[in-house]
Amino acid sequence: MPITPLMPVYPRCGVRPVRGEGAWLIGERGERYLDFASGIAVNALGHGHPHLVQAIQQQAATLMHVSNLYGSPQGEALAQRLVDATFADTVFFTNSGAEAVECAIKTARRYHFANGNPERHKIVSFGNAFHGRTLGTISATNQPKMRDGFEPLLPGFEVVAFNDLEGAEAAVDETTAGFLVEPVQGEGGILPATRDFLQGLRRIADERGLLLILDEVQCGMARTGYLFAHELYGVTPDIVASAKGIGGGFPLGACLATEEAAKGMVIGTHGSTYGGNPLAMAAGNAMLDVLLAPGFLEQVRQTGERLRASLEQLIPNHDHLFDSVRGEGLMLGLKLKGDSRAFVAHLRDEHGLLTVAAGDNVVRILPPLNIEDSHIAECIERLSAGARSFQLPAAA
Ligand SMILES: *Cc1c(COP(=O)(O)O)cnc(C)c1O
Repeated sequence: MPITPLMPVYPRCGVRPVRGEGAWLIGERGERYLDFASGIAVNALGHGHPHLVQAIQQQAATLMHVSNLYGSPQGEALAQRLVDATFADTVFFTNSGAEAVECAIKTARRYHFANGNPERHKIVSFGNAFHGRTLGTISATNQPKMRDGFEPLLPGFEVVAFNDLEGAEAAVDETTAGFLVEPVQGEGGILPATRDFLQGLRRIADERGLLLILDEVQCGMARTGYLFAHELYGVTPDIVASAKGIGGGFPLGACLATEEAAKGMVIGTHGSTYGGNPLAMAAGNAMLDVLLAPGFLEQVRQTGERLRASLEQLIPNHDHLFDSVRGEGLMLGLKLKGDSRAFVAHLRDEHGLLTVAAGDNVVRILPPLNIEDSHIAECIERLSAGARSFQLPAAA
């Protein structure tokens, strides 16, 4: 077999969407899927949201790209809104999550360099983390499937167990620049950090002069019912990487930082040809119009509560398969008593329900943030039918 024109790095399934309408995806033959995957937490307002579509259409016809050689009224406006809504004083725009994490790592190293401590370069990250697929970001994970064959990776990373505060503290030495952590692990299996852990990292960072870098690429941008998940923990970070939902489907990421943490990022130290172009900024501004509208976050929290309660009610009826529900807001995980990949495929192929498999036998449930009760009911019906018709494969 010759190699496929699309480089075969993904095990693509038979769903071939050609159109989307709100929480529904429509395939080539007109078949409909309830989309509780949202392009992996990207389509935060579902498909074809009129405000986002109109903003992108208008901006595309007005001005798409000019490069960062010129002033950017569109970028200044979006950065100002993010600064006003968060801990941050300054923002760098990227085209993806991995680039946002790269910028976060570079910002942290430059901070210590600017302070006259260039030896403080080591980033402590955590087990089963996912930070992206660049060489830098795979160096910050311990997952062999992402690392094997790409060595040598970047030096200056140490991975310790997630939610293990003592382990994190023990990994700190005179070369440490900071901690890099997802407040709620996504790919790892919708695993929230404990309060003690995240608050403890903040305390250690303060005591030892380190930076707390949060990867909120998946859990940020209203997914948990808060603009950023760290608000749930009462923890103020120094640097945050954002992407996925921030563009609602348009490729956009952002690295947010305090003025102090960004002190090394002076002219010439970083850049991106596309990053922050007017089209991306229009998408980001349109998303913030909706996410920051009065009542929106509150509604995500309430919808999340109702979906979670409905999922919890399902468990006793299908306790051969379902173990527990975890997560925050509309970033929910249904832990199974067996392989979640097979069940995700079964839901997709036999019941028209799209979810995403994650680590630790978890089915990730990531609906658009603006779903209604009818969508919850539809999801629960399909999940329940799926559980009844599913044969858990015998353990190998
Ligand atoms: C998806 C993801 C990334 C990588 O984002 P890309 O846009 O694929 O580069 C990084 N961190 C987390 C937590 C993610 O979920």
